[in-house]
Amino acid sequence: MSRLNFSGGPGVLPQSVLQETQRAIALVPEAGLPLLGISHRSDWFAAVLAEAEANVRALLGLADDYHVLFLQGGATLQFSMIPMLLLRGRTQAAEYLHTGYWSGKAIPEAAREGKVKVLWSGADTGFKRLPGDDELPFAADAAYLHYVSNETVEGLQFHRILGRDDVPRVCDMSSDFLSAPCASDKFSLIYAHAQKNLGPAGVTIVVLRKSLLESVPENLHASLDYRNHVAAHSIYNTPPVFAIYVVLLVTRWLLRDIGGLARMAEINRTKAERLYGEIDASEGFYVGHADVADRSHMNVVFNLRTPQLEADFLRRALAAGFHGLPGHRSLGGVRASIYNALSIDAVDTLCEFMDEFRRTVQR
Ligand SMILES: *Cc1c(COP(=O)(O)O)cnc(C)c1O
Repeated sequence: MSRLNFSGGPGVLPQSVLQETQRAIALVPEAGLPLLGISHRSDWFAAVLAEAEANVRALLGLADDYHVLFLQGGATLQFSMIPMLLLRGRTQAAEYLHTGYWSGKAIPEAAREGKVKVLWSGADTGFKRLPGDDELPFAADAAYLHYVSNETVEGLQFHRILGRDDVPRVCDMSSDFLSAPCASDKFSLIYAHAQKNLGPAGVTIVVLRKSLLESVPENLHASLDYRNHVAAHSIYNTPPVFAIYVVLLVTRWLLRDIGGLARMAEINRTKAERLYGEIDASEGFYVGHADVADRSHMNVVFNLRTPQLEADFLRRALAAGFHGLPGHRSLGGVRASIYNALSIDAVDTLCEFMDEFRRTVQR
């Protein structure tokens, strides 16, 4: 198994989690069955869900007035479910920030349900930076504010919480959920699918404030109504048992092996500093995509001087065992995703490779 997995997603998982998953696929002793053939109605799975939820609550320091749901349909379905709940039938506008590829996917879905006000867009400037507070005219009467905490494609991350406390904050944290401590009580709804930082594809975690469900539009499709998922404890229909089990193992790893999110954030900061340090020390050989202040600790996006040189870099990197480095198809370039489970050691190995490549070319 390669430890040099820089994929943007599905991303790297801890070795210990992969090994335990492998054993569970053969047999889960408590259930007497292989992981891939256990009913979601079993006592074993009820315990898996309960512990996974408890671990997410512990990691986030989540208060009792939130639900934690394990849903399907990816982050993409949340782009629709959220405005169905919070915008349908309302006169106020929802505020959206257009900070990159993924926030751009959320906006048209919200616009099907009601008025959307795009407070700021980085489209004209190539999504190289995030807005400052002075550029964001948040309104007191907005239906809610939606933003993406970490733009996975462009490598842009907000290092602060946005918006007003009197307007519901909704945040897509798909690519930085559980990567650092989170002031969860500042948010009305947080969503994150598993496949960037938490597990395999197939499950999306939604954390939502209970009061959001006090007034729900009439006639929502049953599977798109959060209340049904709450009532059924995330088994309204057959859930992805495998994916949720792996998420459980990852949350255990965060709590027991890493020691919590403060420590996880330190490790992630170290990795990011080393990699950006390598870029900045290259005298323009490697050029970071994002403005320094908005650099992501999860996705490090950069270019080389010519497409030719980039292709050469990526070809040689793959031959040297580095996986997942080509940038997103919408942007090109290079993207090193350094999610929770990627080791500091793997980042150091990449830095050495970058150094070596630069010297070879410049010689
Ligand atoms: C990958 C990603 C998505 C898309 O998620 P799906 O699970 O494929 O629907 C949405 N938002 C962000 C921030 C992402 O990184």
